[in-house]
Amino acid sequence: MRNMRQAKPTRRKRRFSAGMREQTQCRFCREGTKYVDYKDIETLQKLLTHRGKIFSRKRSGNCAGCQRKVKTAIKRARFMALLPFSS
Ligand SMILES: [Zn+2]
Repeated sequence: MRNMRQAKPTRRKRRFSAGMREQTQCRFCREGTKYVDYKDIETLQKLLTHRGKIFSRKRSGNCAGCQRKVKTAIKRARFMALLPFSS
């Protein structure tokens, strides 16, 4: 076990080296997206596995609301034959 109290770093005002866990908002919230377009295949494909499955919220980093929008968009895109149901 690590002693957390001992190795306490000096507090900085802001951490510029923002890693994946540093983000407070999801990618769609940051861009201010209100509607995830089902025709935007390039964006949606980043949220799919190569087998066509939708990444989980934990994996994609989306918030609950945006994940729901993404889910709807992907399902619409699948119905329009823009994305595969499975491959
Ligand atoms: Zn969001």
